[in-house]
Amino acid sequence: MEMIVLGAGMVGTGTALALQARGHEVTLIDRAAPGQETSFGNAGLIQSEAAEPYAMPRHPRALRDIALGRSNDVHYASRHLPGQAGALWGYFRNSAPKRHAQISALYHQLTRRATRDHAPLVEAAGAQALIREIGYHIGFRDPRALALAARDAARVTQDYGLDHAVYDGEDMARREPLSRRLAGAIHWPQTWVCSDPGALVAAYATAFQARGGQVLRGNAETLTRAPNGWTVRTEAGTVSAPHVVLALGPWTPSLLRGFGWRVAMIGKRGYHCHYPDAPVLRRPLLDTGCGAMLVPMQGGLRLTTGAGLTAQAEHDPRQLRRAEHSVGELMPLGARGPAGVWAGLRPCLPDMFPATGPVPGHAGLWVNFGHGHHGFTLGPTTGVVLAAQIDGDTPPVEAPVIAALALDRGGIARRS
Ligand SMILES: Cc1cc2nc3c(=O)[nH]c(=O)nc-3n(C[C@H](O)[C@H](O)[C@H](O)COP(=O)(O)OP(=O)(O)OC[C@H]3O[C@@H](n4cnc5c(N)ncnc54)[C@H](O)[C@@H]3O)c2cc1C
Repeated sequence: MEMIVLGAGMVGTGTALALQARGHEVTLIDRAAPGQETSFGNAGLIQSEAAEPYAMPRHPRALRDIALGRSNDVHYASRHLPGQAGALWGYFRNSAPKRHAQISALYHQLTRRATRDHAPLVEAAGAQALIREIGYHIGFRDPRALALAARDAARVTQDYGLDHAVYDGEDMARREPLSRRLAGAIHWPQTWVCSDPGALVAAYATAFQARGGQVLRGNAETLTRAPNGWTVRTEAGTVSAPHVVLALGPWTPSLLRGFGWRVAMIGKRGYHCHYPDAPVLRRPLLDTGCGAMLVPMQGGLRLTTGAGLTAQAEHDPRQLRRAEHSVGELMPLGARGPAGVWAGLRPCLPDMFPATGPVPGHAGLWVNFGHGHHGFTLGPTTGVVLAAQIDGDTPPVEAPVIAALALDRGGIARRS
């Protein structure tokens, strides 16, 4: 059957490949080339170890630090909070320990498949050179924070059948070229590291084309109901199909509004910049001192920032500047690379699950978006889940996971 996927980020491209693998004739449409937006700018980690999605800090001290602007992990501008208040309150409630444990028990059914679902795509795309199976470090400057994190890592390892190792400051000094000694680090070895995230999505899209898939430029806003399905206008003319998937990442809620659905999404802005002269790390390092991830990539060391709660269009350079200052205590970063500062939004839903399933009230209209911190990891996996749903087959995760991914689950989306 013919299918259209709108949005060629990691999620849309993963979905297109999964539908194609089931024998469908798929057209993947984006206003730009594949992998140019959020899936371009991320930290490139494929995190099958990320069993527990990022919870909102709830400890009074952490909240005080965020409120006073002392935290660089979470940064906000107060004028942008009212617009996201409802979604943030939902996120806060879902971050309560008991609720977060329930969410994680389902979420990990998705993340544990991640590298398994990427593996055949990496092979089909001949993209092995972009992937290293080396894991990453979470570094701590404060010994008490390291001890607490080590205790938590032991619990997570036991609960979800993962591996980890704890290194002290001396170990880390041997492992990485740091100019200041850390208290230590936790190594999560099962994570895969991509040296050019945009190039991986582009390679997946090329593999999709090589198997007969069509990649076209077009505007998703031209999506229209037709007698036998849906049409979209593209550079190559109007394309039609009985089923269409919206995989527009942070832009999906705005399109859904036109179909009568209002989505409570939190846009967590993140920045990145490359530093071609910085020392070469062997593995990515999360500097918990400032919430920055440092990843060795093809363009030099990439620094990605934590979450900035700001409006879609607005850039606020403070978070990146503070991260650069803090990381500068660990290593000389050197000058920013010629590409300058990149900014994008992590599309987060208040209960931390993406929305992967049908749009109620619109036969043949499906969504796959809202992957928050883990869309680069989970695109191929939720693609497989959605493709099974579209075919009316049983998806390879438990029924409660499918319920957790529904668009019309409580507190996420409502009819307007
Ligand atoms: C700083 C940062 C670091 C991150 N690090 C990681 C990480 O290490 N690991 C991880 O798993 N995740 C990470 N993430 C999250 C991850 O990048 C996202 O969850 C993921 O890229 C979302 O993919 P997507 O395909 O849904 O969206 P996108 O990649 O944004 O794709 C959406 C596509 O829709 C297209 N589009 C939008 N509107 C239209 C329109 N009107 N018409 C046609 N096309 C349109 C866009 O051009 C775009 O190509 C990070 C995010 C950030 C910001």
